[in-house]
Amino acid sequence: MDERMNAQKGINDVLIVGAGPVGAVCALALQQQGIAARVLEAQPADARVDTRTLALSYGSRLILDRLGVWDKIEAVTPITRIHISQRGALGMARLSAEEVKVPALGYVLPYATLTAALKQALADAAIAVDYGVAVARIESDATCATLHPEAGEALTAPLVVVADGGRSGKGPLAPAAPGPKFARDYDQTAVVCEVQTELPHANQAYERFTPEGPAALLPSGNRYALVWSASDADAQRIAALPDAAFLDALYRHFGGRQGRFVAASPRKTFPLKLAYTGSEASDRVVRIGNAAQTLHPVAGQGFNIGLRDAWELANLCGDTSREALGSPAMLAAYARGRRLDVMGGVGFTDFLVRVFSNDIAPLRHARGLGLLALEVFPPLKSFVARRMIFGARG
Ligand SMILES: Cc1cc2nc3c(=O)[nH]c(=O)nc-3n(C[C@H](O)[C@H](O)[C@H](O)COP(=O)(O)OP(=O)(O)OC[C@H]3O[C@@H](n4cnc5c(N)ncnc54)[C@H](O)[C@@H]3O)c2cc1C
Repeated sequence: MDERMNAQKGINDVLIVGAGPVGAVCALALQQQGIAARVLEAQPADARVDTRTLALSYGSRLILDRLGVWDKIEAVTPITRIHISQRGALGMARLSAEEVKVPALGYVLPYATLTAALKQALADAAIAVDYGVAVARIESDATCATLHPEAGEALTAPLVVVADGGRSGKGPLAPAAPGPKFARDYDQTAVVCEVQTELPHANQAYERFTPEGPAALLPSGNRYALVWSASDADAQRIAALPDAAFLDALYRHFGGRQGRFVAASPRKTFPLKLAYTGSEASDRVVRIGNAAQTLHPVAGQGFNIGLRDAWELANLCGDTSREALGSPAMLAAYARGRRLDVMGGVGFTDFLVRVFSNDIAPLRHARGLGLLALEVFPPLKSFVARRMIFGARG
């Protein structure tokens, strides 16, 4: 096979920076297309376990299914119903998997579980991954791109995929990743942890909009993963509360639909912002996943768009001749093909954060009507749900 021979000779068609979920999916999907990829990952293979929780859409499940990874992921909790409400105002909507005719609206799983399954899949597929190798610099010209690791030999390929989670905009990869084309600081930080509620979750997720920011409860195992957005200062204060005070504050914020909150794991915070950098970098270099767009987690769009980036890029590479791999025409076709999905997700997420995170009376009433319309018009429900699941093309 072509790619095996190339790998033996140390020649790579594609080099990928970052073995996070997006970089790993890209490498696996490229291999399905018969294209050899080599991945460089800054963290060592036995890196400390990351505590993030991810919400995958049904569309992302289909991608992982096609790569043979889905069945190997343990500890996945399906979301079969979503309850959407706003605090202190009328209007609520409920979405169910049955109505949209899918087995689940989404799935919740620990980031560490997903990356472990992907790491195993990369090993099983004999894809070269250099762990503990941080890329310090990228150089490129019209014919190829070269990665310069902090230590070790430089590597060259006709196409470099940057899937570094967006770190490069600030760091030494900056020449290949200028600052974002647009960015918005929401003055919101997420407080994340796991909480135990009095009543079992029965696979129901909650999205609750409040003037300070949205809060989400995602069923995860026999607990809920909480993502509670608040102003930067408030979030630090909330995260530092002792357990009992934290659980009381959460009850006041969220209401009693799940009964009392009875236990919480240690709290972590992460800043929420919009940074749209886009896929276009320098010659022969393309950005995907969080490296191309970092979104507020309110609608669970960012991560799923990132997986679609990886999948679509690999398919396009498969449809491109070897000579044209990484060419300006190919990279322009990729950017064009992704625009609707990415901009749809960016626009929808930004709209939700800005329209719902305030207490302006006319907007409050309009939101209530919007939620009511979503609740009572099945076609609207299906339209919104399908776009959240499959992206802008529904
Ligand atoms: C702190 C934090 C908490 C989050 N919590 C949630 C959450 O609760 N729910 C949710 O849905 N989403 C959450 N997100 C977003 C979610 O993690 C991302 O959408 C998702 O991980 C994007 O995948 P990715 O592969 O593009 O990037 P990442 O998962 O960030 O992976 C990037 C990889 O690239 C590697 N890398 C970086 N720089 C280099 C380099 N120079 N050379 C080589 N390798 C490099 C990194 O080590 C990493 O393994 C969170 C993000 C952050 C930063």
